Amino acid sequence: MSDKKWVYLFSEVDEAEDYAGDWDGVRSLLGGKGANLGDMTRAGVPVPPGLTITTEACNAFQGSRQFPEGMWQQVLDALKVVEEQSGKKFGDPENPLLVSCRSGAKFSMPGMMDTVLNIGMNDEVAKGLAVKSGDEKFVEDSYRRLVHMLGTVVMGIDDELYEEPLHTYKQEKGYKSDAEMTAADWAAITETYKKVVKDQKGFDFPQDPYKQLELAVKAVFDSWESKRAIDYRRRENIADDLGTAVNVQTMVFGNMGGDSGTGVAFTRDPQTGENVMFGDYLMNAQGEDVVAGIRNTSKISGLKEELPEVYEQFFDITERLENHYKDMQDVEFTIEHGKLWMLQTRNGKRSAQAAVKVAHDMVVEGLIDKATALTRVTPEQIDLMLHPHFSHDDIDSAKKEGRFYAKGVNASPGAAVGQIYFDADTVEKMHTVEKQDVIMVRPFTKPDDVHGMLSAKGILTSEGGATSHAAVVARQFGVPCVVGTSDINIDMAKRQMTCKGITVKEGEWVSLDGSTGEVYVGKLGMTTPDISEQKELMTLLDWADEVSRMQVWANADYPRDAARARDYGAKGIGLCRTEHMFFDVERLPDVQKMIMNAEDTQRMLNSIERLEIALESGRLEGRGLSDDDKVALKAEIDAEKAAMEKSPAANAYFGALEKILPQQRGDFYGLFEAMTGLPVIIRLIDPPLHEFLPSSEELLTEVITLKAKGITEGLAEKENLLEVVQGLHESNPMMGLRGIRLGIVYPDIMKMQVKAIFEAACDSKLQGFDPHPEIMIPLTGHVNELKTVQPTLLQIAKDVMAEKGVEVDYKFGTMIEIPRACVTAGEIAEYAEFFSFGTNDLTQMSFGYSRDDAERTFLGVYVDKGILPKNPFQQLDRDGIGRLMKLAVEEGRKVRPDLEIGICGEHGGDPSSIEFCHMIGNNYVSCSPFRVPLARLAAAQAALKHG
Ligand code: PEP
Ligand code: MG
Repeated sequence: MSDKKWVYLFSEVDEAEDYAGDWDGVRSLLGGKGANLGDMTRAGVPVPPGLTITTEACNAFQGSRQFPEGMWQQVLDALKVVEEQSGKKFGDPENPLLVSCRSGAKFSMPGMMDTVLNIGMNDEVAKGLAVKSGDEKFVEDSYRRLVHMLGTVVMGIDDELYEEPLHTYKQEKGYKSDAEMTAADWAAITETYKKVVKDQKGFDFPQDPYKQLELAVKAVFDSWESKRAIDYRRRENIADDLGTAVNVQTMVFGNMGGDSGTGVAFTRDPQTGENVMFGDYLMNAQGEDVVAGIRNTSKISGLKEELPEVYEQFFDITERLENHYKDMQDVEFTIEHGKLWMLQTRNGKRSAQAAVKVAHDMVVEGLIDKATALTRVTPEQIDLMLHPHFSHDDIDSAKKEGRFYAKGVNASPGAAVGQIYFDADTVEKMHTVEKQDVIMVRPFTKPDDVHGMLSAKGILTSEGGATSHAAVVARQFGVPCVVGTSDINIDMAKRQMTCKGITVKEGEWVSLDGSTGEVYVGKLGMTTPDISEQKELMTLLDWADEVSRMQVWANADYPRDAARARDYGAKGIGLCRTEHMFFDVERLPDVQKMIMNAEDTQRMLNSIERLEIALESGRLEGRGLSDDDKVALKAEIDAEKAAMEKSPAANAYFGALEKILPQQRGDFYGLFEAMTGLPVIIRLIDPPLHEFLPSSEELLTEVITLKAKGITEGLAEKENLLEVVQGLHESNPMMGLRGIRLGIVYPDIMKMQVKAIFEAACDSKLQGFDPHPEIMIPLTGHVNELKTVQPTLLQIAKDVMAEKGVEVDYKFGTMIEIPRACVTAGEIAEYAEFFSFGTNDLTQMSFGYSRDDAERTFLGVYVDKGILPKNPFQQLDRDGIGRLMKLAVEEGRKVRPDLEIGICGEHGGDPSSIEFCHMIGNNYVSCSPFRVPLARLAAAQAALKHG
């Protein structure tokens, strides 16, 4: 419809708000940047006048690649107003208005979208402006920038075709930097650039300012669909249909001489979060020079001395902006002949550490409340903060060994070790195809390097500052990054870098520390940060716990992991995989002995049991027993018992169990001690038994080798083992004899475990601890399984407590990891006092995807093709697995309203899955100790979002 409003002046932000309904709507309509420019204009901040073309126009453009009806006329009309507001005229050589054209989506996508500056410049305007400004050099420089940007950004001409002639020109003239170029030099370059356009495109560089603007607006719309923008959106989960707005704004110039300048600044340090103004500026320069990091910038504090009044005004405005937006601001400014202009403000990207500190400090300063602070940090950032760094010892020894290489600007914290590569494509390839840990080394980075930066473990540049592209992007992605390492000389042709005589070639190892800016040759060891030293994080997580409805527990098998989990704020152990303890080298022989003799012993036990039942019931195989039969049967039972007592298999079996029991008791005692006062869920043995034995291939090779060499020593043992392993072979072991099925087929193993748990619990209670064991049975699929196993185990618990003369608080429950268990959860809840979702198996069994192979074979393809939105083993599939879980919760709680429900699959540490668990009413999520802090935040965020 032609009366639709596609264009808003910055001064029309109120109208935009009326149309969009609220501020979020304005941001959707005008993009973050456009909304803020309008907001700043409304607040009386000095903003160069301009207009915003809406995201709705961008979306309308995408299908037809035509501007929607009426849009262009509205641009022209608005431009007339901008002319009035600025007192200049577009295309007028006497008094020209020049504009910039920038993208601006709802969510900031730094450096991802295209920008064109100095639109409105042409041969005539350049002449006129040179007279008006009296600065021919500035004019020629501005003109060549437009021809360059319009060529690369709008027409898609290769940047090299512009860089190369400039480089050669400067070399021929003997210039070291752009500053030495004269007006005539720039004019000559402009002519060369115009030829590039003609050669590459077959038409002349457009002299019509309106044509330039039209092309630039189209280019911004097109850039929404560029590969780098799409990659960025995928990575950041930004919807494709948001579109970008276009901001057309009066140019102000920082390159108008010594009283002009430009800069970027953060109202707080984006690296550490310290409440100090942080940024860079350059006198007599244009914005691109600062952001690209090509010229070395000055610290913002220098402005205080250079232009004290401007600095004071700047400080005052930024303080107001921070108070207004109640968040750290990232601003761009320009000083034109001593007048300060604010070009942009947005919430600043920050390191994980800074995110936590700023959120925390702003609560303390009374700027925001705790709930807001909790939404200012992402779970992923918390994860990052707990990432490893180099140990002091390693750094010391590397320095002693002369492996300290260079020091640059510490741009994004964290340590990284990897092999170096010099271009984004190679970095990506070495990472994805060769699976290498890679460090990307570049003079500086540009938006089309982003795919390499995402693949890199670390980034190192020789140029640029803390606000350069490399620094901003790395910080956001949490990739450790060192920039501006100017001692390093990168030789792209030889694919090597040299610093103080030491050359490191492509493919060789370096270690870099993005927190200190130090770079080392070779590999350094890394250590894990101590959370207790991170006071602000600890406080923030305490605030998280205050609002969360779900608790966070941890998956921990050993007391030291449990202690770490507790330090990290876990409120219980949600999964102790007891079988992990069986793999201990000291224990494995006994475990193997137990397995090797289980079948024979069980056969004897089963036979005795069958006869005893017959004797008791008076019937055997369907017929009644006479008194004589009974006497004979009794004798048979006694004989079998006697035989079993002498049986080497039975002795080995029970002997092994007896040896394992005290070991397990010790393990559990340690857990109860570490987790005193908190619940500890101990899961009974789960994996198929063959996992504790050598593989049949390995054994077969050994047997054949022994035979071939004629060695008899140990041969019989190996053959015996091989026979057992082959006997245990199953085609689908994950669906075979494991979990509760083992508890039914070989009950003594689980019985031993339960005895050990309760002995440990009673002992620890007697020692003054407060144990809360919860016994978890794995892999239940049918209530009858629990009915069969649980009474015996319960009885053992009671017997041990009676024997020890002490009562402990305990629960019996089950994992829910088989689809049938979800569907029949009501029946299962009659017996189970708690459910814990084993979403690893539940995903495997419900999708029918092998959790061991699917990622390697087809899951990647599925995700790439969009068949699945995410890998369901990492992020819970809410539509399928989630529905099963929801059903299980509902059915289970119908029968047992106080049913305790948790999750202990890998999803327990994934923020999206945690949110879902909150939504269905889990009591807790359980994840690895390292993920406990991020899970605490995710649980709080879920509570804030869903109540
Ligand atoms: C699960 O299946 O989700 C689970 C926690 O058990 P495991 O990974 O040990 O099979
Ligand atoms: Mg499982």
